[in-house]
Amino acid sequence: MTVLKVPSAANPGHELLQSALAQLDRAAKALNLDPGMHRFLQQSERTLIVALPVTMDAGHLEVYTGYRVQHSTGRGPGKGGIRFHPSVTLEEVQGLAMLMTFKCAVTDLPLGGAKGGVAVDPRKLSSNEVQRLTKRYTAAILPIIGPEQDIPAPDVNTDEQTMAWIVDTVTMMTGKHSPEVVTGKPVELGGSRGRTEATGRGVAFVTLEVLRRQGKEPAETRVAIQGFGNVGSVTAKSLAAAGCRIVAISDVSGGYAAPDGIDVARAIEHVRSNPARTLEGLAGVTRISNAELLAMDVDVLVPAALEGQITRDNAHEIRARIIVEGANGPVTAEADRLLADRGVLIVPDILANAGGVVVSYFEWVQSRAQFYWELEEVEKRLEIYMRRAMELVLAKATVYDCPLREAAFIVAVERVASAITKRGIFP
Ligand code: GLU
Repeated sequence: MTVLKVPSAANPGHELLQSALAQLDRAAKALNLDPGMHRFLQQSERTLIVALPVTMDAGHLEVYTGYRVQHSTGRGPGKGGIRFHPSVTLEEVQGLAMLMTFKCAVTDLPLGGAKGGVAVDPRKLSSNEVQRLTKRYTAAILPIIGPEQDIPAPDVNTDEQTMAWIVDTVTMMTGKHSPEVVTGKPVELGGSRGRTEATGRGVAFVTLEVLRRQGKEPAETRVAIQGFGNVGSVTAKSLAAAGCRIVAISDVSGGYAAPDGIDVARAIEHVRSNPARTLEGLAGVTRISNAELLAMDVDVLVPAALEGQITRDNAHEIRARIIVEGANGPVTAEADRLLADRGVLIVPDILANAGGVVVSYFEWVQSRAQFYWELEEVEKRLEIYMRRAMELVLAKATVYDCPLREAAFIVAVERVASAITKRGIFP
């Protein structure tokens, strides 16, 4: 097999922000948006950069850089995850915060958009070191977060454990039990049932909806999924349960293919029991590279890893007819146009992976009310929100005769601008 290299964007965070701005411009043009409002939405309302000293287990001090960006609080408190990754930059966090504003708006949540990140490779730290880093970061951003200000959640390399440490930090620093300060918490600390699975469930839901509308049976659908973290693995499990054939999956250890379909439950179990927490060593599959996975001849490709994976350099290699963006910003703006020209249907991130923040919203509601819903209730409501957003975006795409991404941005930008206009610019 030829070895392809993923020509991921040279500066993925920069490209992500530029792509988000380009989409905003397109929607602004279609909506004939007021130029002042357009300029306001191009900016982040508030940006905090913090230096984070951490005493390492070996006794010396390391210093990490952290960010929290609130892009817009026009429709409600800022909302968005925190990522721990070596490639985190200010531009990346700004771009991701902007996407959160539009993700919350397209799903009609009463929330704005925010994002946080720390430039660190948490896999190189011990659990105690990550805990100290998380607690220091939380203390550093505490002045600008809160249930009525900005509510963090998990993102790349953070999970319910990270959220539990954040709850503890805020509780210790304020003297008040504060579960409502974050979402994506463990259920025993006030988290919502179904939150962990929500993003993958939502990705699977929109995928199945697209297939249904195209009159394609799940049983005759071949799917490749890049990324096997929380989003990729649950998407794989849900699509397999619906009858789709998952022919390839991948993670940091590389890609794994099986033309007759991968046993997803076994792959999940493999990762869980593998000390490295990767797919490395999975049996009964052929090893492929991540680049080969992206170029596979499948019906559906789900990039569910990081941004900037499909660029102008490899867009021509993509053979999938449908791309469902499990990750935020996996397709750069240039690649997006090249693929659209070839008739590839792309379900954009702000719609496709919105299930996570939808259930985060449910969790915030539950935490504030101190009244917790059954899983069936969460799943039923998640489907209502996803279906409504999807139908609206499809309808807009017809009216404006445009790709789904542009339609989703049109819906979202219109809602955000309208909320800001109705409030009146302060003072
Ligand atoms: N990190 C997730 C996202 O990008 C979830 C954010 C949230 O739940 O606030 O949508």
